[in-house]
Parts: sequence; C-alpha cells; structure tokens
Amino acid sequence: MTYRIVIKGQVQGVGFRPFVYSEAARLGIKGTVSNNEEGVIIYASATDNDLQQFCKQLVTTPPRVARVKSHSVQQMEEREFNDFSIVPSEKNARLNLQLTPDFALCEDCEKELSDPANRRFNYPFTTCTYCGPRWAITNAFPFERDHTNMVSFPMCKDCVKEYGDPLDRRFHSQTNSCSHCGVQLALTDHSGKVLSRDPESICQKVPEILLQGKILAVKNTSGYLLCCDARSEDTVMELRRRKRRPTKPFAILYPFLSALEKDLSLHEDHRKELTSAERPIVLLPADGYKGDLAVRALAPGLRQLGVMIPYTALMSLMMRNIHFPVVATSGNIHGSPILSSEEEAVVALKEVADYFLHHTLEVTNPQDDSVVKYSEKTSQKIIFRRSRGYAPNYYGSLPVPPKKVIAMGAHLKSTIAFFPNDFLYLSQYLGNLDHMDVYQRFTDTVEFFVRVFETTPEVVLHDLHPAYASTQFALVRAREWEGEARGIQHHKAHFASVLGENELFRSPEPVLGVVWDGTGYGEDSAIWGGEFFGYKMGRMERLAHFEYFDWLAGDKMALEPRLSLFSLSGTAMTPVLEDKFTPEEMRIYGKVIQKNTLKTSSVGRIFDAVASLLGICDRNSYEGEAAILMENCLTGYDLNECHPYVDLGEDGKLPSFDLITRIHEDMLAGVPKDQIVRDFLFTLATIIFQVAERFNMNHIACSGGVFQNATLVDMVREIGKDNYKLYFNRALSPNDENIAFGQIAYYVHLNPES
Ligand SMILES: [Zn+2]
Ligand SMILES: [Zn+2]
Repeated sequence: MTYRIVIKGQVQGVGFRPFVYSEAARLGIKGTVSNNEEGVIIYASATDNDLQQFCKQLVTTPPRVARVKSHSVQQMEEREFNDFSIVPSEKNARLNLQLTPDFALCEDCEKELSDPANRRFNYPFTTCTYCGPRWAITNAFPFERDHTNMVSFPMCKDCVKEYGDPLDRRFHSQTNSCSHCGVQLALTDHSGKVLSRDPESICQKVPEILLQGKILAVKNTSGYLLCCDARSEDTVMELRRRKRRPTKPFAILYPFLSALEKDLSLHEDHRKELTSAERPIVLLPADGYKGDLAVRALAPGLRQLGVMIPYTALMSLMMRNIHFPVVATSGNIHGSPILSSEEEAVVALKEVADYFLHHTLEVTNPQDDSVVKYSEKTSQKIIFRRSRGYAPNYYGSLPVPPKKVIAMGAHLKSTIAFFPNDFLYLSQYLGNLDHMDVYQRFTDTVEFFVRVFETTPEVVLHDLHPAYASTQFALVRAREWEGEARGIQHHKAHFASVLGENELFRSPEPVLGVVWDGTGYGEDSAIWGGEFFGYKMGRMERLAHFEYFDWLAGDKMALEPRLSLFSLSGTAMTPVLEDKFTPEEMRIYGKVIQKNTLKTSSVGRIFDAVASLLGICDRNSYEGEAAILMENCLTGYDLNECHPYVDLGEDGKLPSFDLITRIHEDMLAGVPKDQIVRDFLFTLATIIFQVAERFNMNHIACSGGVFQNATLVDMVREIGKDNYKLYFNRALSPNDENIAFGQIAYYVHLNPES
C-alpha cells in the first residue's frame, strides 16, 4: 500500500527529513520525503504494520529541536518506488506550517569546533541539522538553503558530500558550510582598516583587545553585540557613557557553564535554560557575590545579574581564549533596535566601538537575546523579553479565526502577531515605537510577515490608545488592505493573553483577572493600570480598580517617580516633596493638579510613588527602574512577618492614597526600608485575594508588567496555594510584549462575529 503522511509543526530546518529517511531505511520502507507549505510530506509504500510503526516513531521520537503538532495519514493509489529518497521541496499553496526559530550551537558542533583534527576546527559558522541560525537568516519558506541568506555561499565538494550522506549529521543540513566555502570574518579597527580575516589569529587578538579595556562590536548571527571586559569598572562605565545607557543592567557572557558556576550559584532550572536550544539570558540572584565582576557598574543598585553562555560557534570560538566574563549587550544606541547590517553598524556605533568583528552572512530578522528569570521561592518562570530562540512561533493553541487577523500590539514593548493560516505567529521583541528606527523595524516586520505568508490581513487589531504609533499604523494599513480595524482595550488584551495561554476561555468557572502595569488607555479615557476583571463564559467586564489619582505632566510622569508621589501625597508629605521639587516646581505642579482632569489607577505609578517616598528613585533612566530597584531592597521575606498597610474597603474601594499615607507613617516611625517594601508588596498580594473573595472567585489570572516582580509573584503563589487556582503568563512575557497576542486571543474568543 502507498500512504501520504503529512507532519505538521516545527518540522523544517530541524533535521526532520534526514530523520524520516533513516527510519524508513531501518524499516525497509520505500518512498519519498520532502518539505512543502504544510510541513513534511511523505509518500511511503509499506505494509500496514510497518506503516504504523513508522508513524509512531516519527511522532514520538522526532529530532531534538523538532515539535510535532499534528500528523495525518491518507491511503492512496499504489505507487512504485525503487528506494526511499529525499526530494526537493514542493510548494503549491500558501504556507501553513510553523516556522523555525534560531537554535543554539549543539554539543557535537561545539566539539568539532575545538578539535584540531576536525575539518571544522575554528570555523566560526559551524552548524548542523540540529543547530544554527534559522529565523534570523530566512527570507522565505519552506526552509531551504535558497530561501536563506546561505544562498550566497555555494557548498564546496566536502560540504556537498556531507549534505548527501544519509549517515552524516549534516545530511540535508541547509546551513551547511565550512571554512572553504562559508562565511568569512573580518576584524577591523575603528577606521574600518582590516586587521585580520583569519579566525585563529582573530581569536588571539580579541582577548588582547578586551584586556586593553577596548570595546568590540561583534556581528553575531542575530545582530551586533557590544562586548568589553566585565571585570573592569572603568571600561563598563565607558561603554555606558558611549552607549548613553547610564544604569540599565548589562548582560554578561561567560565562556563556559563551569566558569559561570564558579561565580554564581545555579539551580536546575537555571542550568536547563542556560544550555537549552533557546539559550536566553538568565537573571540570577547575586547576593554575596565575591568574584571579580564589576558588579556595581554592570547592574547598578541591583542584586541580580543577567548571564548567558555562547550560543553560536562564533561566540564559542571568541570566548575560548578569553578566560573571563565579558559584557555582551545589544549593539545599538540606547533605545534603538539591535543593528544587523555592517553598513548601519559602522555608522551607528562609530562613537561606541573601538573595534569591529564583521562577517559576510546577512541577517534578515535581527533579534535581541531573550531574557528569563525564575522567582526565588516558588521557581515561577517569568519571561522578561521573548526574542531569539522563541520567535516567531506560538506553540499553544487558539481557535483558528475564519478571517486573517493581524495584531499591532502596544507601543513601549512592541511586538506583532499574525494569524494567516492554522498557526499563530508572534514576532520577536521590537522595542519602543517612540524611536523612529524601532518604528521602521516594526513596519518592516509587518510587511515581512504579510509577504512571507502571501496573505493580506482582513482584520487589523490595535490598542485603543489613539496616540500609539501602532494604532495609527493599524488604521492606515486597514484602509489600504481594505480590511477592518478593531480596537481592543489594553488591559483586556493583557487579561486575554493569560486566559489564552492557559486555555481558560472555555472554563466553566469564573476567572478573576488581575492586570497591573504602568499605563494603558482605558475605556473611560482614564489611564488604567490597576485593574480587576471578571471573565465568565464569553463575557469580560471590569470589576474594580485602584482608586484614581491625578496623572500629571503627560509622558514625564512615567519617567519621574517623584511626580507619582506628588500626585498621591497628602499634606503631611509636604516636607518630603520640598526635598524633591524646587519651590517653582512645587508651585507649577500644585496648579497643574488643581486643573487636572486626567486620572489613573496605575499600580506601576504607585510603585513609583513608593520608590520616590523611600528615597530609592526619583527619576527613571530606563522603564520600570524604580520598581526594579525597590524589589532589590529585599533579600527575602517570611509571610508570617508581613503586615498589610491597607485592605479592600467595605465599599469595594482600593485605597491608593491611604496606602501611601500609611507607608509614610511607617517611614517617619523609622521602620527599615526593606520592611516597608516587603509590606507594600504583601499589601498588593493580599488585596488580590480580598477582591477574589468579594466577588466569590477562586480562579485568578495575573498579567501586566508589574508581574515581572518575582517577589510579588512568589507572595501571590504562597498566599493562594491552598485555596486558589493561580495562572500567569508562561511562554509569553507578562509585560506589553504580550499585548499583540492578547489582542488576537480576545478577538478569536470574544468577538461575536468571528
Ligand atoms: Zn550542531
Ligand atoms: Zn564547505
């Protein structure tokens, strides 16, 4: 009998066809395998029995970086095959498959890289069917060499031989290359003069450069990284000055996991993340750190460090001769998107980098490194940035809408989401749309998605905020595409993201949504951010919110925590304010507040007010800095010692002003800062359960940037563990990166016409 088998999921560019080939050979099955627009398509002539065994193997033991979502088997007219072979891709229709993210260097490739007897010794672009760049270098799908930027590097005889050898790890590896036929390096100085093109001598020069306190811009496979000696406070401060990034922490690249473990203590979750195929930056607690990193300069005011180990052959090679950790931060000027082309980088980083390490492989989809953290007490995984290694797939399930839907996301942490077929795709983190070049990348990414899937969106989802660049772009594009634009409220999208991720839309139990963040445009035109929603069987409604206070000075409010304090302060706090504002400012803001009509319920701003009150931070140099510094005052907590400052009022009021007043009283009474921070977080955590009780709900779903606070997450989990079912974002970040996904989840589940 002949059968047609289709395997769907993340099955291209992962060694699936060679795997099918070897399984077929083992079972003596004849036929063909190829990639097509739907995934992997197999024609197999086999007995019923063999076929069953074959399918079982394919689905249950796929290659390590593959993810099988579904498969189908169809019997067809008997066909004659002489053998089993891999045949070229066929594409007859639009794409309908999961795309392939970038994979970190695998162990086998890493070994070859450092084996003088191997022909890939010192070749910085060593990859195989299981590892290497994919999404970063892809221009079209199905995943074939011709559709990637590897098309510029025709394989040499030896590479062709590997490619054609069923027993080789590089059998049908689309990124296969070697030093004879592959990507070339060039180390240049600041003026562009080439110092070397030889990987071996470059690897000797790089440590010298870094030891001299110089800054090196390295083109990695997903974009440029800025590197310098992480032990030298002067060098790190110089990088801060040049990059115009005064305090935001830098990530640190260790040469090996073992070197990292000598410096910082890891638990199993950390180790797994650090060595995974996604290989993100992991935020680790750094209490009592005694190594020689310039901690104060790397992560000012923080007791955590973001670390990673090499994930490409180039990084591995570069770090081999460097026996110390180096800063590895996205190559850009503060706020701009990560750079990926040599022409742009030499101009934009002219004043930043002393040396450049370029290469000749083009990058189509530049991506920052992803960032994850585990909460200390309950080991809850929190994604801070979802980018390289995760983009562009979503692996959970959502009902497929009848119309083609695109979501333009939020503004500060822009991402997009597109539902052009049976799969939902989420872009990498793009950045803050206030910056022209981030906006450019955002629009480019939209066009790229539309082009790759050859699908014009019919519905364009956007935030309700009329001034978001993503909203304005959505309205223009919807007209051009002759589609329909729909606004979805920011915090409802957050709530929908956590409902969608946890598949709660069909839950028979009502779910309480706790959505706390910095800002979002509310349905009543106020700035929301301290919201409680109820969801039950297709209905989502706002149940409660933190007591409104004045939103002052537009965008400045989020940059200056002291303004949140000004807004929330009572008369007793005047002396505190007088320390933070000039008499002139006091007068001006005093007047502004009298006339002000713009209100907010933002918990992010309440964090700011507390941080300012405690003298922790009056001006943010990066988004959320005050809240992060505040969490870092705390070195742990015991629930039995915590006291709430305020409770949910009998009238249902969530008292924002009283909360600040009580904290001020504690401050005057000389209560230590860390205790105040602890009790503030405890107050927020307990209020969640008071609201849940009031509305008689025991399923609680939390989202919004405030839930990046791992201590708050731990407290909520600890308090609720016995009597409540708690949900958080899992594969997505709780911050505004999840808005695009949330908009789609809201649309497919709650839109009456969809
Ligand atoms: Zn490999
Ligand atoms: Zn070659």
